[in-house]
Amino acid sequence: MTNQAPIVIVGTGLSGYSLVREFRKLDKDTPVVMVTADDGVSYSKPMLSTGFTKDKDAQGLAQADTEAMAEQLGVEIRTYTTVTGIDTGKHELVLGDERLGYSKLVLAWGADVIRLGLAGNGLDRVHSINDLLDYRAFRKALEGGKRVAIMGAGLIGCEFANDLRNGGYEVDVVAPDATVMPSLLPEPAAEAVRHELTELGVRFHLGTVVERVDEDEDGDGVRLTLGNGETLQADLVISAVGLRPRTELAKAAELDTGRGIQVNRALETSAEDVYALGDCAEVDGQVLLYVLPLMACARALAKTLTGERTEVRYGTMPIMVKTPCCPTAVCPPPVGAEGNWQIEQEASDVKALFKSPDGETLGFAVTGRFAVEKQALAREVPPLHQ
Ligand code: FAD
Repeated sequence: MTNQAPIVIVGTGLSGYSLVREFRKLDKDTPVVMVTADDGVSYSKPMLSTGFTKDKDAQGLAQADTEAMAEQLGVEIRTYTTVTGIDTGKHELVLGDERLGYSKLVLAWGADVIRLGLAGNGLDRVHSINDLLDYRAFRKALEGGKRVAIMGAGLIGCEFANDLRNGGYEVDVVAPDATVMPSLLPEPAAEAVRHELTELGVRFHLGTVVERVDEDEDGDGVRLTLGNGETLQADLVISAVGLRPRTELAKAAELDTGRGIQVNRALETSAEDVYALGDCAEVDGQVLLYVLPLMACARALAKTLTGERTEVRYGTMPIMVKTPCCPTAVCPPPVGAEGNWQIEQEASDVKALFKSPDGETLGFAVTGRFAVEKQALAREVPPLHQ
């Protein structure tokens, strides 16, 4: 390592770009190099599940191209450049045959989609959508199609289901659980979302899984065979069965990893001068694959990179579920919190409050007309870090 080596940030998603934006507010001069496996185009990933509702294709969702970002932020951006290793001893990143020295290294390389081991000869019609390039490929493949099957009824599966119905597509959702978003919503709120999506025309096949995806006899679509013996026809399939923080390269470099790359609240990994944030990071024991936590991390880490070591403090961070047919917001209680859900409900309008034994509100989920109460409720819930 030399003193002249730049700060290197791997990843140009919301984490990478938010960090550089925050850093440049404090330091205009220190050289920064960003390295990304993709095209480096700036976009807001949450918008990928709103394309039809907002009438925007992949091009419309792009916010700024790489050259504009590099100029605006005063950084060098190396696109289509995949990191293949980290040599923490030498303070070098390995990029295939090349090495790139760093003074400080930030890993903001996101999470991988989980891929199911499906049988059948129609798997090239199964799309995972985890970045703008994926979305572009999906929209192109969908041209002329009318029917989409979605595997997974979590937040992303439900959002795509609503968005595709808004775009006029036939939508089937297949998921093993008894209801939607089981890890996020208490049952009455989940049932309200499922009910409203059904009213919108989404067909749910719950309590079962997709086992095979085969080409249609006429070759213009696929036939899905479900575990319960049912079959479905579709033009394309979206796989939305979950994400896993990218830890492999960190593990190979002997950084501590758990569910994600483990960092403390100053976003420091176990290796000197190496930091992580965003979907790849496990911050103080928590993997939170959402925007608000990564923004808080970006603000804290920007200060640390200027020499003022700063720990992240998470406030209360409600999650808005983008199902306009049933507006929904949720602030899950802390994992393992003692208490129970108290439910107020009228048809699909649900207000669920998670109360501790001494009556404190530790979390909430609101749907329908109660969704407008999200800000007020968020003020009642204690922040993750007091
Ligand atoms: P990413 O955006 O995945 O960026 C990773 C970057 O690392 C990319 O530039 C990639 O090319 C690069 N990279 C990866 N590996 C390498 C390598 N080996 N070498 C070089 N570069 C590499 N969150 C919310 O809070 N609210 C929402 O409403 C919401 N909606 C969502 C809807 C969808 C459809 C999806 C998929 C996610 C949604 N999320 C939402 C989650 C949120 O978008 C993510 O938490 C956030 O965008 C993650 O950003 P990131 O920068 O950490 O990762």
